[in-house]
Amino acid sequence: MTSQAKLWHPRLHPNALGKTGPFRIVGGEGVYVTAEDGERYIDGVSSLFNVFVGHNRPEIKQAITQQMDELSYYPIHAGVSHPRAEELSIRLAELLEPENMSNVMFGSCGSDAVEAALIISRQFWRISGQSGKTKFGSLRFSYHGSSFGGFSVTGSPGYRANYEPLLSDCFHIDAPFIYRNPYTNDPVKLAQACIDQAEREILFQGPESIASIIAEPIQTAGGLIVPPEDYWPKLRELCNRYDILLIADEVVTAFGRTGALFASRDMGVAPDIMCFAKGITSGYLPLGATVFNQRIAEAFITSDEKRGIIMYGSTYAAHPLCCAAALANIAIITGEKLADRAAILGNKLMDRIKPLEEMYAHVGEVRGRGLLVGIDLVEDKRSRKSVDPAKGYADALVAVAKSEGVLIRSLGKLLVIAPPLIISEDELDRICDALFKAFETVNPT
Ligand code: PMP
Repeated sequence: MTSQAKLWHPRLHPNALGKTGPFRIVGGEGVYVTAEDGERYIDGVSSLFNVFVGHNRPEIKQAITQQMDELSYYPIHAGVSHPRAEELSIRLAELLEPENMSNVMFGSCGSDAVEAALIISRQFWRISGQSGKTKFGSLRFSYHGSSFGGFSVTGSPGYRANYEPLLSDCFHIDAPFIYRNPYTNDPVKLAQACIDQAEREILFQGPESIASIIAEPIQTAGGLIVPPEDYWPKLRELCNRYDILLIADEVVTAFGRTGALFASRDMGVAPDIMCFAKGITSGYLPLGATVFNQRIAEAFITSDEKRGIIMYGSTYAAHPLCCAAALANIAIITGEKLADRAAILGNKLMDRIKPLEEMYAHVGEVRGRGLLVGIDLVEDKRSRKSVDPAKGYADALVAVAKSEGVLIRSLGKLLVIAPPLIISEDELDRICDALFKAFETVNPT
């Protein structure tokens, strides 16, 4: 393939591909993708953590083409609507009945969903007569998208450093990272230590100045951090105590990935706002959604016309094709009970690869929930110091897995495995075999 055009890849130096060029994927079927040279690979990270139901599902393709025949596009601005937008908001509200979240706004991706959550939380306080509550809190090691708002609340310097100064009035609190934290190895004590630190920070900032705290139930890009069991209930309680809205960024975790339909529900918490993307359409078409509870809705409903309008809204909000894809995708997830499947297969995956911790000096911890699992690579187990990504150990492991027909993802210091939820046990075994082969083959330097 030759062209004068230069395609700039996200998160890659423009010279990084050198003469080799990119690895081209040209086809997808079920849990497999096919490369340009005809090789088939197991898509061990669901492409970008999003293809939950596998590639090339006829149900979703049919829903999209049917919608294309009916109405390919019309916006929902200016009081207009279309059936798929309404059906999808009803379906989401049904799924979120336990949280009493029946208010839905749509965008085109996870960054959009986070942006909406941030502006809605700020506007909520303004129209509630507390316009001083403007600040956003978030966790260290978090990732919340690549808009200025998303980068501002993101807690991983690598993503945001080149864009500073970011939004003022954002602050970060300690992440409940059991494996690597300055406090304790005891999960119960750690949850409390992090909540105590968060409370000190809230008091320092002034609760009367804080709009919301945003957090991922399981922090994915920042290191696959699974919090102690009682962290989220304690975070909810802390937000209640200081009247701060709690935003659950479930862009990665919602729709079954972690073995439950919603990870925050699994952790016993009803947030005030939730952000969805990825698994909502399984990547067939781009869609983000932000849902919020009745308390927030009431403030907007009862405010005057000028202040109660939410200005968030892009041309493609609730695009009919994307809504049709989401409806078909969600029907597969619920119909095939894929959340339960992720829980069962996640346990099997963990049973098989947890022993890597004992087998290899550089495997610090294998952790995860459902079909979202990370392998934390360390220089040495005692210090738990991460490997230096520049030395290329993670990349070399990924390369061997690839030569074994399995695509997994390196986050430099961590390997991530997150296959489509429809994966069979045999295919999951193939992922594990490839991982074992990789660790056996690669010598860390
Ligand atoms: N929030 C979280 C937790 C994410 O992991 C991501 C993307 N990986 C985003 C938000 C942003 O989503 P998108 O890439 O669709 O904009």
